[in-house]
Amino acid sequence: MTAQYLPTACKSCGRAALAPIHLGVEPTCQRCGARARVVPGEAYQERDIALFEQLEMLVYGAELSAQDTQVVSILLSDVADRTKAPDLVVARLLRFLPGLAHLTPPLPEARPDLAHALGMLLPIVGTRFRHPSSQAPHA
Ligand SMILES: [Zn+2]
Repeated sequence: MTAQYLPTACKSCGRAALAPIHLGVEPTCQRCGARARVVPGEAYQERDIALFEQLEMLVYGAELSAQDTQVVSILLSDVADRTKAPDLVVARLLRFLPGLAHLTPPLPEARPDLAHALGMLLPIVGTRFRHPSSQAPHA
């Protein structure tokens, strides 16, 4: 069996990461080493890490305001939209996350893959939403 990777959120530095989950072992933040919290939701695989990290950098770099973060969360939370019309959701998100248009490789056109990428954005944006104070520069 391949290891499962779950999104984790670090309370200390406010960053999200995809971490391999081992039963009984607390995940730690790969950036600052603090204890990280597993974000309930979808599980991923090792091959998803690259895209997850790219999306995380993108969201982090966008420095969304609290209000914009909330709007983005709401857009992503619509599961029906996300699975049936992910292209439409991406189009709405571009206003807040213009970097989505410049991903390499670009976001897939295929709906299931696009919905998969949007699913990853949810825990990332959720982490930003819960830990906005970490926008402040840190050592
Ligand atoms: Zn951290």
